[in-house]
Order: sequence, then structure tokens, then C-alpha cells
Amino acid sequence: MSRLNGKVALVTGAARGIGEAIARVFTANGAFVYVTDIDDALGREVAGALGAAARYLRLDVREESDWQRVTAQILAERGSLDVVVNNAGITGFENGVDTHDPENATLESWHAVHRTNLDGVFLGCKHAIRAMRRTGKGSIVNISSRSGLVGIPGAAAYASSKAAVRNHTKTVALYCAEHGLAIRCNSIHPAAILTPMWEPILGTGPEREARMRAFVRDTPMRRFGTPDEVAAVALLLASDEAAYMTGAELSIDGGILAGSAAAPGAQHGDER
Ligand code: NDP
Repeated sequence: MSRLNGKVALVTGAARGIGEAIARVFTANGAFVYVTDIDDALGREVAGALGAAARYLRLDVREESDWQRVTAQILAERGSLDVVVNNAGITGFENGVDTHDPENATLESWHAVHRTNLDGVFLGCKHAIRAMRRTGKGSIVNISSRSGLVGIPGAAAYASSKAAVRNHTKTVALYCAEHGLAIRCNSIHPAAILTPMWEPILGTGPEREARMRAFVRDTPMRRFGTPDEVAAVALLLASDEAAYMTGAELSIDGGILAGSAAAPGAQHGDER
């Protein structure tokens, strides 16, 4: 378990869900991890549970001054920043079910989702590159989504922001290569992963199980993924094992994108 030995990592939105799992797996593999989030209490708790190999710092991904402060502090404390995982993201449904279709979504909610999901990743990549210039190498891992690869009629801003993350990842990868930097940038595209992000959508009560089944009905593996399964992919991209991977996109979706729900087999049952 030493695939990240000696590396210094920063994970955004690491107080819970996928970010927490990534921070945990990274420390278990030898990295020193800066757990960052806007939920200070939970973030400190997560870093505390990880012991001497982790430290919590507040970082609101939407604020450039936060990125400047945090990256400067990391370089002062540790001398390098080797891995940045741009994980923090919102669906726009955090305060209950709102309207996010292309006809009725408000400009305000559209901007709010893009500010966290896209502006946050832009700033994360910008300040990761600047910090990684000190050694001339590093790995940036952007958490996009399956929703960044297909249209999502009920979550227009989320899908748009994640599609932009996919494309920006490739721009960053090419920019770094053109500048002779061994800084890699790749994106991960999870489908439904059971984290607290789903709670407002799944709700509680007797309908919860039925809703869960409905969400994975078209998933060939017929289940939600787990945060640890996403963390395993982030670990690969963060490690030197992925030294020749840049600008790549990795799906972790139980097989959804391997096929199409519109395929004849899906419409007519199992006759073929
Ligand atoms: P969670 O909502 O469980 O966790 C996200 C964390 O990010 C929370 O601690 C949240 O804090 C924090 N956060 C929110 N806004 C900011 C901000 N501006 N700056 C810093 N931290 C912030 O999400 P998941 O773990 O489910 O998702 C992680 C990433 O994976 C997201 O980018 C998401 O879009 C992506 N993803 C998730 C999928 C899933 O099914 N779960 C599927 C595909 C992609 P607080 O709680 O205080 O808001």
C-alpha cells in the first residue's frame, strides 16, 4: 500500500462522500493529504480520523483567494504539491427538488451550479499547475460525471458543467504537455454513486427503496457504485503507474455507457 509514497495531495470537497473516500485511500497508500471543504466541522473530523497523514484546510473552490492561500500554505509546509483532486461539486438539488430543466431553470440556479462545478475546477487546475511548476510534475484528477457525456433533461446545469469539466481537462492536459511539464490531467466519470449527495433526491420513507431501484434500472450491473470504487480509479490516476495517461476520461458507471437504453434488446426484452 505505497502507491503514493512521499506525495502531497489536495482533495476538494473531502469532508464526505467520494472526496472523503479518496482522501482515505490516498493516505492508506502513503500520501500526505490536505482534506479541504467548506464544511469545517466535518472536514476536521475526517482529517482527524486519518491521523498524522492528513490536515484540514478550509477551501471554497469558488474563491480564488482561497486557492492562493491554500496552495501557498501547502508549498510552505511541504515543499511540493503533487496531486490535486478537483472533487467538490453540487447538483443544484441540495435544498430539495427544484426545477433544472432547460425550459424552466432560473439563470441564478444555472450560474450557482456552474460556479462550483466549473469555475471551481478551472481555479483548481490553474492553481495546481502554478504550484506543480515547482517540481515540474504532478497529477490533476477532475471528477466529472456520466452526466458530462450525455444530456440530462432534468439537470441541465449539472450536465453542462460536467461536460465543460471533461473538455477543460483535455485543454489542461495539452497545455501542460506543450509547456514541457510532466503534469497530467485526467477526468473520471462516475454514474450513480451512493453518497450523501443523493439524500435529497432519494428521500426517506417507504418510497426510498423503489426510487433507488428506479435509478439503477438501466444500469447493466443493477446497483449504485460506492465511493471506494471511485477512489480506486483516482488512486490509479494519481500514482506514477498512470505516467503516460493524460487528457483521458475514465467511466465508472456499472456498464451504462457500454450500450444504449434505446437498443432493440432493451425494448423487446431478452429475445436476443
Ligand atoms: P457530496 O455532496 O456527498 O460531497 C460533496 C462535498 O463537497 C461536501 O462536503 C460539500 O460540502 C463540498 N462542497 C460543496 N460545495 C463546495 C465548495 N464550493 N467548495 C468546497 N467544497 C464544497 O458529493 P459526492 O461525494 O456525491 O460527489 C463528489 C463529486 O463527484 C462531485 O463533483 C459530484 O458531482 C461527482 N459525482 C457524484 C456522483 C454521485 O452519484 N454521487 C456521480 C457523478 C459525479 P457541503 O456539504 O457543506 O455542501
